[in-house]
Amino acid sequence: MKLAELTTVALAEMLARGPVVALLPVGSVEPHGPHLPLGTDTLISEAAITRAVGRLAAHGVTALVAPAIPYGVTEYARGFAGAVSIDGATLTAFVRGVIEALLREGLSHVCVVNNHLEPEHDTALRSALVGLAGRASLACPLTRRWGRTLSAEYKSGACHAGRYETSLVLAAAPALVDTAAARTLPPLATSLSDGIRAGQRTFAAMGLDAAYTGAPAEASADEGLELTERLAEMVATEVLEALVTLGLSTTA
Ligand SMILES: [Zn+2]
Repeated sequence: MKLAELTTVALAEMLARGPVVALLPVGSVEPHGPHLPLGTDTLISEAAITRAVGRLAAHGVTALVAPAIPYGVTEYARGFAGAVSIDGATLTAFVRGVIEALLREGLSHVCVVNNHLEPEHDTALRSALVGLAGRASLACPLTRRWGRTLSAEYKSGACHAGRYETSLVLAAAPALVDTAAARTLPPLATSLSDGIRAGQRTFAAMGLDAAYTGAPAEASADEGLELTERLAEMVATEVLEALVTLGLSTTA
């Protein structure tokens, strides 16, 4: 299921059997409160993709997990240790290059799966897909279509390293969550979307002095599994709809 774990022979045989889709996880290296790892967003993208592979197989679609792109645009977290940010133009060029290379190697479609929700990061990814309609797609919960399928905390905008993301990491990689630290964190209702609309450009400016908002203490692995399935549904649907436009699938 993982592209990088196949031999060239195995990949060639797979491509000869029929269309293969690449699912490309994208994230960030960014502070996520005192309790979640810096690579949280990439972990979430990979967990959603892992579940999406099975959903696609049920529709007769073969999908491979491409190696992740774990760096992104993370300016909001500036000032906390571990905000490793690259500029948007660099991200656009690199993601575009990876997509084009995967298509050139015979993959039928590339779905970029992103769970780092900074607006400038999202814009950089969308720019990478310009002109590739059908051959590449973006699965990201920032759109209304998919955001509305997620939890109440997510929809409130108070969702950085809060209940939403902490639940997802508890489901995907529980050993990486400092649950003792999470339990001590008081709930915060600061909406990132409101702050961004108000022109605040860093977590610090929004008063988030521990790099989280939301309610990490309320997180659970069960909720994380449920949310992972909703994100997997997003990924599978974006791929199936694109394959219909390419004439490679009849069910979306
Ligand atoms: Zn995150």
